[in-house]
Amino acid sequence: MVQLNDNIVGIDAAIFMHPTIWKASGHVDAFNDPLIDNKDSKKRYRADVLVEDYVAKIDAKIEKEVAKAAKRFGDAFDKKQFLETNPRVVEYQKEGKAILQRLGKSLEKEDLADVKKLIEELEIACPMSGSKNWTDVKQFNLMFGTKLGASAENAMDLFLRPETAQGIFVNFLNVQKTSRLKIPFGIAQTGKAFRNEIVARQFIFRMREFEQMEMQFFIQPGTQKEWYEYWKEARMKWHLSLGMGEDNYRFHDHEKLAHYADAASDIEFRFPFGFKELEGIHSRTDFDLSQHEEYSGKKLQYFDHETHESYVPYVLETSIGLDRMFLTVFSNSLREEELENGAFRTVLKLPAVLAPTKAAVFPLVKKDGLPELAKEIINELKWDFNVLYDEKDAVGRRYRRQDANGTPFCITVDHQTLEDQTVTIRHRDTMEQQRVAISELRGIIHKEVDMKTWLMKMG
Ligand code: ATP
Repeated sequence: MVQLNDNIVGIDAAIFMHPTIWKASGHVDAFNDPLIDNKDSKKRYRADVLVEDYVAKIDAKIEKEVAKAAKRFGDAFDKKQFLETNPRVVEYQKEGKAILQRLGKSLEKEDLADVKKLIEELEIACPMSGSKNWTDVKQFNLMFGTKLGASAENAMDLFLRPETAQGIFVNFLNVQKTSRLKIPFGIAQTGKAFRNEIVARQFIFRMREFEQMEMQFFIQPGTQKEWYEYWKEARMKWHLSLGMGEDNYRFHDHEKLAHYADAASDIEFRFPFGFKELEGIHSRTDFDLSQHEEYSGKKLQYFDHETHESYVPYVLETSIGLDRMFLTVFSNSLREEELENGAFRTVLKLPAVLAPTKAAVFPLVKKDGLPELAKEIINELKWDFNVLYDEKDAVGRRYRRQDANGTPFCITVDHQTLEDQTVTIRHRDTMEQQRVAISELRGIIHKEVDMKTWLMKMG
């Protein structure tokens, strides 16, 4: 965001901010999740997630039909046409859409009784007990509270930030003026956020303490539609550049809009437990800045030197969870592969640019000067890459260890190396081995793992 865009800058705002900020932003009154309890299992769920999971099952049926048809029609299969014309699939899609629309409308109107009715009509059962004995749906505020002050009597209620975005809004004018930024411009931030999630499950998908990477893009009112489309496309391009498969991503446009938004879409990723939100792109209008103006009594306006007018900018936001991105990459990269000889290997096919170790160097045996030579190679490569040395066990075992670590390259030093300064370099994904000169190693590794090569895919 910051390096490739000359109109986006970074910031590190505070985690604790004045409580009025959260009143102004709407979080005190409206940052709620609808919860429901099962009376038999005593388990608590998010009512909206129960319904969404029900729809995900319908989506899975659609995918099954698509896979079946793709097999039947072979190369002649046209997925788009199939989705539009197959009567059963069309029916499924209609059903899913109608359910989500009703859920969205009921949540928007805060009609929690209808959310419960929907759960009952769909005959959704508790995943733990199978029981359909539900309590009413209640709202639950997600902010963590704490106190500021030396004594209990004068302590002030504080909140841990549930998103990083508000830190950007309240610093908007400071940043704009000191960096002399002209609209359109963005402010980006990476930092911790805290939410008292009702159900924190599915490994690190949903946590109570997590890291967000957000960017607020300040624009002229009226241009939000264009910028919304622009950032949707730009962010999808960023995801696809990691090479984890186009079929694993989709947009999900929101039926229910948050109180601040006039358009919103999620980029969803196919996790092992189904398609789920990975990033949100939100058109937030001037809601946040106007609210902070009102609650602080200070102007938060941009002065346009060309038209000599002041206005409250509109905002386009991109918001992604760093931990959730980590889970995306790891869940997609970890594979069990059957080899030609019938054996299996565990391989972590991390995009090379993200692999924590770029290469491992092995001496074939622990004698004859091979370890010393391997360490010399490490000493040359370590200035550019994170490399490691391993001399334990047979080379095959060492390859397997690095496959599981996600290391893109293994370099083996043998007796021939002593004579002609060449080594074997093995590629993690193809397991192909090449004989190359030591002097070529840096170039070969660099080509694969270089940040620039990756970033330029987005150029
Ligand atoms: P959900 O509806 O799943 O609760 P949300 O729509 O409230 O999520 P946003 O407020 O849009 O999520 O947050 C932006 C991003 O922050 C999400 O796309 C996700 O990647 C990440 N995120 C949100 N909540 C959590 C959490 N509890 N744990 C990990 N990451 C999270």
